[in-house]
Amino acid sequence: MTGSISALILSWYRINKRRLSFRDTGDPYHVLVSEFMLQQTRAETAEAYFERFIDRFPDLRSLADSPLEDVLKAWEGLGYYSRARSLHRTAEIIRDEYGGRVPNTYGSLLSLPGVGPYSAAAIASIAFGVRVPAMDGNLYRVFARLYDENGCVDQDMVKRRLYSLALSDMPEDRSGDFNQAMMDLGAAVCVPGTPDCAACPLSSVCRAFIAGHPERLPVRTKKKPPVQKDYAVVILRHQGRTCLFKRSEKMLNSLYVFLLIPLPEGTGIGEALDKTDSFLLSRVPAKPAFYLDSAKHVFTHQVWNMTLILAECTEDTWAGPEQYVWTDTEGLAALPMPGAMKAAREKAVQLLSSPPEGGIINRRSLSVNLMAENTTGSTVG
Ligand code: SF4
Repeated sequence: MTGSISALILSWYRINKRRLSFRDTGDPYHVLVSEFMLQQTRAETAEAYFERFIDRFPDLRSLADSPLEDVLKAWEGLGYYSRARSLHRTAEIIRDEYGGRVPNTYGSLLSLPGVGPYSAAAIASIAFGVRVPAMDGNLYRVFARLYDENGCVDQDMVKRRLYSLALSDMPEDRSGDFNQAMMDLGAAVCVPGTPDCAACPLSSVCRAFIAGHPERLPVRTKKKPPVQKDYAVVILRHQGRTCLFKRSEKMLNSLYVFLLIPLPEGTGIGEALDKTDSFLLSRVPAKPAFYLDSAKHVFTHQVWNMTLILAECTEDTWAGPEQYVWTDTEGLAALPMPGAMKAAREKAVQLLSSPPEGGIINRRSLSVNLMAENTTGSTVG
């Protein structure tokens, strides 16, 4: 079985491999950057960001020498910003401790910030030909089906078993191609849910397919539903400028956001406006707040339900410990902001460019239906 799996998958890969710009460059720095991007992002989505990122930071030293804020800006839209912070820190370490060359062993890669077992294996095998399986959710699924593994793939013991099987199937050379071929198979053929076994080069050796139940695998523990968080997102405005706050929290750290006021779950618009007014009272002189719109943003473990609010300020000050900046539309475009702020940023750009005349809904005219009518679609990242 060993020889046949690698031979079958590699000959399928020769014809069916995804043509992605970060593949086959032979540059370990490119592999490093692409693997950070691919940690939470589909390859096709990551590709456009990769090209832009490499234009901006063409080599490891340019990345390591740049301020973190520039890196976060280049990462904008990709989400999961801790990856950008770790990539920047990793580049600094490689510059300072490895003479600017990406280390070429699994162990040394694993010691870098943001590089887990999957990424270390992917970089080591693709960039340096190290024989180590890059086991992510896709590969666990493929190997669970190939070997009809009925244990839960979230358990360490089952993971270890599948890792050993993958390693035994890996050829002595072309380990990078083997990993990438399995990744492509998992992305296009052996997909979650119902796999396309008719198009699979491994169906003749796949035990779950032969047993007639590939769609039952892999066995997984049930995920917890994401936590719902409600926020008033307040666009503070004063004479063509708005106030942004640099986050110090772990989540979205160092990114700029509008004023975020946490609200109890299910808070209505009127109450959100009242809470905004009282929150601002001791922090900035402002007129009564106005409701603008509602928006939702879906993170992996959280959903933000946001009530977008405008507060006209009579001064561009802020009395609070937060790090803040009053900025115009140019600043709004230049500062790194998370995807969750997309709807609010678009509103702010409109508001700063052309102050509305009657376009804003007065809090006294709010109807119950307004929230439902104005709820925007969700975005991920
Ligand atoms: S035969 Fe089906 S279940 Fe088995 S590896 Fe191929 S696509 Fe996956």
